[in-house]
Amino acid sequence: MLAVTSTSAQQASLPGAATLFEASVLVPGDGGAPLTDAAFLVQGGLIRSVGRRGQVAVPSGATRVDLAGKTVMPALVNAHGHPGFQRGLVYGRENYTRDTYLDDLNRAAYFGVRVILSQGIDPGDVAFTIRRDQQAGRAGGARLLTAGRGIGAPNAGPGAAAFQGIAYELTTPEQGRAAVRELAARRVDMVKIWVDDRGGRAPRLPPPIYRAIIDEAHQRGLKANAHVFYHEDAVDLVAAGIDGFAHLVRDREMDDALVAAIVRRGVSVMPNLAGTERGTYAAVPPWFDEPGLMALMRDTVPRPLIDRIRASFAGRDAAAAKAARGRYAILQRSLAKLNKAGARIIMGPDTGLEDHLFGYAEQRELEEMVEAGMTPAQAIVAATSRTAEYLGLRDMGRLAPGTHADFLVLSGNPLADIRQTRRIEAVYFDGRPIDRARLRTRLTAVPE
Ligand SMILES: [Zn+2]
Repeated sequence: MLAVTSTSAQQASLPGAATLFEASVLVPGDGGAPLTDAAFLVQGGLIRSVGRRGQVAVPSGATRVDLAGKTVMPALVNAHGHPGFQRGLVYGRENYTRDTYLDDLNRAAYFGVRVILSQGIDPGDVAFTIRRDQQAGRAGGARLLTAGRGIGAPNAGPGAAAFQGIAYELTTPEQGRAAVRELAARRVDMVKIWVDDRGGRAPRLPPPIYRAIIDEAHQRGLKANAHVFYHEDAVDLVAAGIDGFAHLVRDREMDDALVAAIVRRGVSVMPNLAGTERGTYAAVPPWFDEPGLMALMRDTVPRPLIDRIRASFAGRDAAAAKAARGRYAILQRSLAKLNKAGARIIMGPDTGLEDHLFGYAEQRELEEMVEAGMTPAQAIVAATSRTAEYLGLRDMGRLAPGTHADFLVLSGNPLADIRQTRRIEAVYFDGRPIDRARLRTRLTAVPE
């Protein structure tokens, strides 16, 4: 036997050093069976081998991290967020700075999120600079991908007042192609379009324009994904070659033909449940005080904001909540249909809308996927490897040889109860534990 010594987190973080982790359960995140009495070797930030305890070859001098009784799973991947707009109690464009943005990415990381795609509300250079700095090791938090500025018809882009003037507002196919060329030059990670009339206040992006955008994106090796509201638009967007939906359709349940087309064309779908579900209460929801979720909230959110979110539930109109329950039930039924049909369901809960906090919303979304009929194993695949694949991150989102060692150490097994994804004892990015104690201090501070 080779010498294996126990280690501190610091030793384990030395570049080039090999570390053997031994856990009671390893959830691979790719849909494969969980491994019990698992061991995996990490070196240079990558997983080198995975096997049963005692069966993984360990190089001389490797250190060992004993995770007996713990479950290990891949860190989460989120394909739909909007970092940078909320700072404490205030939501607005004036908050959109590097500091606010990094706080959101760090908050997400604390809750176990490894990657966030910012979906089209990134003005200026902030997101691009952070993305570059992360690649160079000069910025932390969840890894940022960005769609830059998304594309919609005039006044039909992102909804909130804070977002006005950020998206492209177009009226011709050629403007659509020009916007995509500009985005491609900035090396965006995705093209985002909005196809919605915003409750009748604006025109929908017309099919000839979105067809030109999708075509131009594909010519440049980029995927295009759509905010969609109406069933009829979703049907045509699938036919037009859209790669993903950032929402389920919301005017009615998806019919069998649309579900079949989504499966046949391999379109990825973000159920995006959590935002709608929040509107279904006229009292504090039972899940708000679930101990695992609340512990993470208390660790990462200024206390006055937690208090305000709690209070906001109680102040809602009962009739509006009832209407929201009807809308939410439609989403749940569509998701159940998609899941049964084998559609590519991925995670994207619109994190970063007001009071829809980073990390917290992803954790809620997982639970809601299961409430809509997905098994915990299916929800985990959706929120890890399948979203990573959608984002072109083939060496992320699963625990297998050659992938990034981005994983959560949990005190319970989420395959038995999905809420165990919140029982986080440590978060590892590239084989190194993130400094959660430092983040607690920073993220709970009340902004001046
Ligand atoms: Zn969004």
